[in-house]
Amino acid sequence: MRPLDLTELLAIGDLEAHFGALLARLYPICRSITGDGVRETLAILQESIPLEVHEVPSGTPVLDWVVPKEWNIRDAYVKNSRGERVIDFKKSNLHVVGYSVAVSRRMSLAELKPKLHSLPNQPKWIPFRSSFYRDDWGFCLEHERLEALVDDEYEVVIDSTLSDGSLSYGELLVPGATDEEVLLSAHVCHPSLCNDNLTGISVGALFARYLLARARAGHPARYSYRFLFAPVTIGAITWLARNEHQVARIKHGLVLTLLGDSGMTHYKRSRRGNAAIDRAAQHVLEHSGAPFKVDDFLPYGYDERQFCSPGFDMPVGCLMRTPFQQFPEYHTSGDNLDFVRPDKLVDSLTKCLSIFDVLEHDVRYLNLNPKAEPQLGRRGIYRALADRKAGEESSELSMLWVLNQSDGHHSLLDIAERSKLKFESIRKAAALLEECGLIRRLS
Ligand code: ZN
Repeated sequence: MRPLDLTELLAIGDLEAHFGALLARLYPICRSITGDGVRETLAILQESIPLEVHEVPSGTPVLDWVVPKEWNIRDAYVKNSRGERVIDFKKSNLHVVGYSVAVSRRMSLAELKPKLHSLPNQPKWIPFRSSFYRDDWGFCLEHERLEALVDDEYEVVIDSTLSDGSLSYGELLVPGATDEEVLLSAHVCHPSLCNDNLTGISVGALFARYLLARARAGHPARYSYRFLFAPVTIGAITWLARNEHQVARIKHGLVLTLLGDSGMTHYKRSRRGNAAIDRAAQHVLEHSGAPFKVDDFLPYGYDERQFCSPGFDMPVGCLMRTPFQQFPEYHTSGDNLDFVRPDKLVDSLTKCLSIFDVLEHDVRYLNLNPKAEPQLGRRGIYRALADRKAGEESSELSMLWVLNQSDGHHSLLDIAERSKLKFESIRKAAALLEECGLIRRLS
């Protein structure tokens, strides 16, 4: 099995440019948990991956929930008596509270104020607010602009519709050598917010594109990879309701989010806490040479909440950089294209691939010569090691570990953990020993 190596697809500089261009296209779209913004987002992804778009009608029961009415918006503004738009949806879609019902009326500043949301501590940023599952409306604006509004008669218009329609989500299965699956999920329901939703979407889409290219070139992965691009909470719940029968196939999963800020990588463990994905993520981050943090499961956050609910208890963790609510730009207009760095996205995608590279190659071997150490020199192994590049000086030790632990019970990840050596070194040692007929693959 070939290692997962992204540079097979694009050079690093091209990857950064790809991410920059994709984010710039997706950023202006007004997404919500339903509506045309989600469809437009999925259609852009379909240009590079053959995503299947599912439409689930409003009113459909999904587990304990019901698919809501579909929300769409064309325009919204607050005009002063001189006809100037003092709040304008066309300038930023964050200005309107998501799922606002239609409004057209004249109001005094005192009447309007309870419907305005701002952040007194961050007066230059527009907050992101939504009003799902209750009929309400409102506007969001910079606190300094709210403070500057004067007594006047304002024309308040929200040209939106909330009606029977459907919830849209995108799904793609990239078949592997087995039908055991990996689930990768990203939410697609935030409007002009970049780190929170667009980074998970773009990392997921590029990972899918890479796996498709490999499969087309005759190198499918060991696992089949299922990619899900769905609105947070209700999208994951809808998918789970429709796919309950095949959840058992999913052996490993990751929720992808917040992958482009300059903070260190965080991994949040699955509810199980010691699933293979949890161990692989910990191992990769420990050997990444960069600062990182691994957090325990918490039933709060993104769609790991649904996947790790007790009735499913899936082995799904969450990969991110700075966790939500821990950076001031979170859910504000400060989470914009300038806040996200393409090089950090490449770094996050590379770590994601490294985690799955471990899981792809985490197999057990049997030492065929287990009584004392085999004579390695006679088999030309030292010569083969000497031919290897510098920086792989742990190869001999890796080989001794693989031979010692390959009693049929320990997988390569078990061996990497116990030896504290990098998985890649253990994997390469195993490949060499297998070539020499000293070990045999079991699973
Ligand atoms: Zn969010």
